[in-house]
Amino acid sequence: MKQFAVIGLGRFGISVAKTLYEMGHDVLAIDKNEELISAISDYTTHAVQGDASEEGVLQSLGIKNFDVAVVAIGGDIEASIMVTMIVKELGVKYVLAKAQNDMHARVLYKIGADRVVFPERDMGIRVAHNLVSTNIMDYIELSPNYSLMELSVLPIWVGKSLKELNMRTKYGINVIAIKRGESINVTPKADDVLRKGDVLIVVGTADDIGKLEALSG
Ligand code: ADP
Repeated sequence: MKQFAVIGLGRFGISVAKTLYEMGHDVLAIDKNEELISAISDYTTHAVQGDASEEGVLQSLGIKNFDVAVVAIGGDIEASIMVTMIVKELGVKYVLAKAQNDMHARVLYKIGADRVVFPERDMGIRVAHNLVSTNIMDYIELSPNYSLMELSVLPIWVGKSLKELNMRTKYGINVIAIKRGESINVTPKADDVLRKGDVLIVVGTADDIGKLEALSG
């Protein structure tokens, strides 16, 4: 069981804090807004009202003993930077921070954030890909150059094996799993034959995934 501190209880912070707590972890939630603290107190181990950008506040909460700190302050960039710097200086091993834009993310990495996330941007990308084609169930950017996509088997693929489809050569992508109903095959073989309703999980360069996406639109 790990100890997590979640600082900032906007929609993102609340969702992270509640999920970690439901998973059985120790969660300390901090926000300067008293109402948010009362609302979340039943869903976390501790909920404390305070301004996390004042060094003494986090210090007195023993933040250095936490395994992970999540800085979920998005709107107030100055506060997000201050808090990230303080938790890092106080010795928290792993700090994940939410950024509003690329410049904000660069600053957060510079001052020691271990991981920076863009929840709204990433969700926007996933939703947009799903809207463009109903065959695309999910789309995740793994890096600026590689993506993962979950897509329904196209009618022209039904009854064909992975070997026959030859996706690696034809489209430059790897099929890493096949979902069929409730089951998921994470070691697909060359002679596995695709059926109607199957869902493929594929990985490839953003370019190649884009070509496949155009095909399935
Ligand atoms: P979201 O976009 O996920 O809803 P917001 O940036 O709107 O996130 O919310 C951030 C939360 O962080 C707010 O509830 C705000 O009260 C809290 N917050 C901002 N600055 C501080 C700070 N210095 N100390 C503690 N909490 C803060």
